[in-house]
Amino acid sequence: MPDNVQGPDRSDRAALRADCASCFGLCCVALTLTRSADFAIDKDAGKPCGNLQEDFRCGIHTELRTRGFPGCTVYDCFGAGQKVSRETFDGQDWRGAPRTARQMFQVFPVMRQLHELLWYLTEALSLEPARPLHGEIRRTLEETERLTHLPADAFLDLDVAGHRDIVAELLLRTSELVRATAPRRKKRDHRGADLIGARLKGADLRGVDLRGAYLIAADLTGADLRLADLTGADFRDADLSGADLTGSLFLTQAQLNAARGNAATKLPPSLRRPAHWDR
Ligand code: SF4
Repeated sequence: MPDNVQGPDRSDRAALRADCASCFGLCCVALTLTRSADFAIDKDAGKPCGNLQEDFRCGIHTELRTRGFPGCTVYDCFGAGQKVSRETFDGQDWRGAPRTARQMFQVFPVMRQLHELLWYLTEALSLEPARPLHGEIRRTLEETERLTHLPADAFLDLDVAGHRDIVAELLLRTSELVRATAPRRKKRDHRGADLIGARLKGADLRGVDLRGAYLIAADLTGADLRLADLTGADFRDADLSGADLTGSLFLTQAQLNAARGNAATKLPPSLRRPAHWDR
């Protein structure tokens, strides 16, 4: 949630990075918050968080972790917030136009899903071993991009789940082509595996399929995750100190934000080191 995202990128994903200064604080209004270790309050969808200021900035931005809102430092909208604010609703904010506010809050999570798919597809297009699929990836990326430019009322009829399935199948084939270039391992498929609290210190996980794996609080210090497929892996409180994530597949900023790490963690160029990591 409200933050600044910067850094070099091997591919053009600037539009897929949150630009909170261009957003009407949509993640702080449109989403439901449930009181937990991540959020100190309960809040219904469509109701502004009490910490959101009139200028759509967070009033406790620098203290989110100490004030009981670490979940806000993990969340990433993939640039959906500014797209909905500036393009779909043409710069008309929900305070000034309460009649369209509800629609704006409904469009935002749909746009976020589409932008997340754009993030993955853009990465897929940069992967050389997946060159045989580049034509199909490019067409799917263009179709996904087209959907993000639809008028607001068209969003609510979109079959996003169906489109996600198409993209997921394509990314799976992409992953297989890329991971085939990694050194052979006995067990390469840990898809959806329960690895909560697993001791994987220094593990060679090159080319391993960790899609959707539960790595909560796992010890991955010094692990080699190059060419590992990390799509949707749950890294909450996992320790990535000293781990090598360069060349890992489909890692997102939110996954990194949820983990722990340090200055020795090697990151893909498209991602930044979370501010709360040990320096
Ligand atoms: S605490 Fe700040 S970042 Fe989190 S929802 Fe509220 S206003 Fe947004």
